[in-house]
Amino acid sequence: AFEVAVARLESPGRERAVVLTLHDQTEARRIERMRADFIANASHELRTPLASLLGFVETLQGPAREDPAARARFLSIMADQARRMARLIDDLLSLSRIEQKRHIKPSNPVDLSGLVSHVADTLTPLAKDSGLVLRLDVAPVVVQGDRDELLRVAENIIENAIKYGKPSGPIIDGGRQLGIDISVEAKRDWGVITVRDQGDGIASEHLPRLTERFYRIDAGQSRAKGGTGLGLALVKHIVAHHRGRFEFDSIVGKGSTFSVSIPLLHK
Ligand code: ADP
Repeated sequence: AFEVAVARLESPGRERAVVLTLHDQTEARRIERMRADFIANASHELRTPLASLLGFVETLQGPAREDPAARARFLSIMADQARRMARLIDDLLSLSRIEQKRHIKPSNPVDLSGLVSHVADTLTPLAKDSGLVLRLDVAPVVVQGDRDELLRVAENIIENAIKYGKPSGPIIDGGRQLGIDISVEAKRDWGVITVRDQGDGIASEHLPRLTERFYRIDAGQSRAKGGTGLGLALVKHIVAHHRGRFEFDSIVGKGSTFSVSIPLLHK
């Protein structure tokens, strides 16, 4: 799409000229549409738990007033909904903060190995609940970055592997328990985190859209697992902020691999 501006010039010598200005609007329109979609999606995501909360408040004020068992059950659902809204707002704020900081590259020394081991430790109980083992292979690697942002990256991709990377078939294959392999290594100028699951994998048509805000393969499953649909969008933005690389691939029936490369700290 082009914006067209036409100006007629009439000079004293009576020759006439026409100036035609073509201004490419495609990119501006695309950005505008993305922004509008984003606001619509975010509002919808916030509205859904809010509507459910209001419904429960009305039930508690009316029919369930004298029923302690129902009251306890409803309050616990309401707490879940409120937590979901809080998570969503936290993710939205993180995205906007990173966007504002995007021109300043973070450059603190961050011990990537310690950070990933820490995240794996805190997520081990969640993995155990799903019957998955986390296998860790971590070399000492120090990168240039922002520790809090890199924590979010490791949390998101390891948590996703646990939430979505559980095979629907048997969890033991050839005597070996299926699980999640997490590694940290230095490769040339990069510190690389790799998270490989042995789940059902992701069909290739979804891969190009996976880092879009609010894109989920199965929205019901994501919500049931407490997802906001913003995790991988956040990872993408944080990695770009670090001038790093975020790559992923998947084979249906075999599993998915997510890898993040962050510039090493040069002495
Ligand atoms: P969510 O909050 O829904 O987890 P994410 O942005 O982290 O949002 O992920 C987007 C979607 O990508 C998820 O809803 C899920 O469908 C899919 N996904 C992410 N990681 C994996 C994985 N390891 N295996 C299979 N699907 C995945």
